[in-house]
Amino acid sequence: MNLTESTTSHGKHLHHGTKCSKMPADMDFRTYLRNYPDAEGFYGRFGGAYLPAELEPAFKEITAAYYDICYSAQFINELRRIRKQFQGRPTPVYHCERLSRLNGGAQIYLKREDLNHTGAHKLNHCMGEGLLAKFMGKKKLIAETGAGQHGVALATAAAYFGLECEIHMGAVDIAKQAPNVTRMKMLGANVVCVTHGLQTLKEAVDSAFEAYQRDYKNAIYCIGSVLGPHPFPMMVRDFQHVIGSEAREQFIEMKGDVPDAICACVGGGSNAMGLFPAFLDDPVEIYGVEPLGRGTTLGEHSASISYGTEGIMHGFNSIMLKDAQGEPAPVYSIASGLDYPSVGPEHAFLHDIGRVKFDTVSDEEAVDAFFKLSRYEGIIPALESSHAIAFAMRKAREMKRGAILANCSGRGDKDVDYVAEHYGYGDNYKF
Ligand SMILES: *Cc1c(COP(=O)(O)O)cnc(C)c1O
Repeated sequence: MNLTESTTSHGKHLHHGTKCSKMPADMDFRTYLRNYPDAEGFYGRFGGAYLPAELEPAFKEITAAYYDICYSAQFINELRRIRKQFQGRPTPVYHCERLSRLNGGAQIYLKREDLNHTGAHKLNHCMGEGLLAKFMGKKKLIAETGAGQHGVALATAAAYFGLECEIHMGAVDIAKQAPNVTRMKMLGANVVCVTHGLQTLKEAVDSAFEAYQRDYKNAIYCIGSVLGPHPFPMMVRDFQHVIGSEAREQFIEMKGDVPDAICACVGGGSNAMGLFPAFLDDPVEIYGVEPLGRGTTLGEHSASISYGTEGIMHGFNSIMLKDAQGEPAPVYSIASGLDYPSVGPEHAFLHDIGRVKFDTVSDEEAVDAFFKLSRYEGIIPALESSHAIAFAMRKAREMKRGAILANCSGRGDKDVDYVAEHYGYGDNYKF
């Protein structure tokens, strides 16, 4: 038994899915999670751990500890108990009947990660990282945050486990995200204000990394998505795997078979990597949805796989958006959780072999989905999740019949003031 094994198995669905010509000939998705990444943290040529020499031992220590605990019955049982009693899992799968009727075409279903404690999927990996820190005898969790969502989830985990928490955040983001800064402080975290450069996410990452370098014996760096040097992309994926393994079982229980298609928004890619692997071996079309923002011009979007090229940043090789100098380009999305100039290496790999397709959704389409889900289903989604919902509606119309399951990664409480100010209340959506 390990962390990513499902508790039940539906043998009849374990046939091979949609193989593609670029896939390695021996590709077998039944053993996918065991075979990827390799021992060095590579998914094909993507991933790895490009680290300053003095941090190599620290990351080796984290990797060894993770391999230890992910096979430990005690760790798995403790994480299960936390998920059930503290986070409120399992989260339901929900059939959007009114939205499907409005839209026409395939039936739309949501995996309700917005119902997690703290309102998004991020707590799934933060509780895992906190439990790992506890196991390793660390006293402090260090991380960066952009919009503050990862900071709030990690501060929650730190409070739960009785650990110190230090969150690095750009001064510009601190000013923009006041409610999340207050939540972090209320939960006992020390919010470090980063005042150099553009004073946003990239500087916060650099600052958090430096703090970790000074204190790695006492602290652990908790990355907020399937990003960074090995073992983080693997570890965060495994902690998020519960989304897909629950969703697959729940969907089969409701409908007797797997959905025809699934989709999730992709910032760094953790909610998507949580959903996708459980369906890799099924005849299911899988879509990652990237933010197109205000358009295709560099700087106006954050669609790394759709418009980027291969490169190394923040300690791993993946697909990234670069400026003329080859540096990480400025990025934009209405959803601040999606504006990262690269993407988790495993997405780059699954895209490369053709098993996961990527498409884009603009700010405008995301806001339309935000209003429609609110008005037709009584669910106010996060603007990040609205990208997945917008894609599900578009795809459902194309498919005409069948079912598409979208990951509703978070709730929209954090976004309602911004949307109301810029777009109103959606009163033009008639019933
Ligand atoms: C942070 C966040 C995302 C984007 O992160 P991924 O790692 O791509 O999942 C998506 N949805 C919500 C609600 C978030 O808070």
